[in-house]
Amino acid sequence: MIVPNAMIVLKSAREIELMRAAGRLVCQVLDALERMITPGVTTAALDAVASRLIQEAGATALFLGVKNAQARFPFPASICASVNDAVVHGVPSDRPLAAGDIVSVDCGVRYKGFCGDSARTFAVGKVAPQTQRLMDVTRATLDLAIARMRPKVRWSVIAAEMQRMVEEAGFGVVTEFVGHGIGRDMHEEPKVPNYFDGGRDGSDFELVPGMTLAIEPMVTAGRPTVKFADRDGWTIVTKDGSAAAHFEHTVAITRDGSDVLTDGR
Ligand code: MG
Ligand code: MG
Repeated sequence: MIVPNAMIVLKSAREIELMRAAGRLVCQVLDALERMITPGVTTAALDAVASRLIQEAGATALFLGVKNAQARFPFPASICASVNDAVVHGVPSDRPLAAGDIVSVDCGVRYKGFCGDSARTFAVGKVAPQTQRLMDVTRATLDLAIARMRPKVRWSVIAAEMQRMVEEAGFGVVTEFVGHGIGRDMHEEPKVPNYFDGGRDGSDFELVPGMTLAIEPMVTAGRPTVKFADRDGWTIVTKDGSAAAHFEHTVAITRDGSDVLTDGR
């Protein structure tokens, strides 16, 4: 079943350029954090720099102050920083990163009324070959999806290819969290899964020009099941303790393909 696209807010060319401005800032923040990542740096220090860059640009951080029913406090930071077995929604902390760690940094901003959302997983120093492969496959899965995105394609066709790429590499696709439409709000319709469930959830949709979607594969080195870490009601970790990677871009559908809005252009 295909969800009627009436639920999905399409963007004009002008609105897409405003989203690109938000996306460019997100890219600049992630680039700045990438240059800082080295053994000994804390994720709190990364967050401090991200907060400053976002504020100096006259934008607002989308994650700061978000509430969820399980959490003991509203999200206290501008970025999510998820280390090793943490998949998403990690709270920046004063624990120094160590060589061999990986850290997934997710950054979202609203700038001049429109949102950009992007994530990258970074290696801290030298990481194990299998960990590097996890990151490479996750990144390649995002690139595959972007290359396939064009009008008239059903999302489920792309999602099935993403899932196949991950599983053929011997990794797991997280299903509890998915990508999303994005625009004036961080989370808009539709839901954008990284797997195909056979159409049972009725969430398939057809890509049309003007759609703006956050595509964000979350991939685990072991089993794909996740749980809340006990600590804070925010951080989502793998149940088996295996490492996880997360790459995300905000992407617009154009007349003949796709246009990445968070790659810094
Ligand atoms: Mg994100
Ligand atoms: Mg997102």
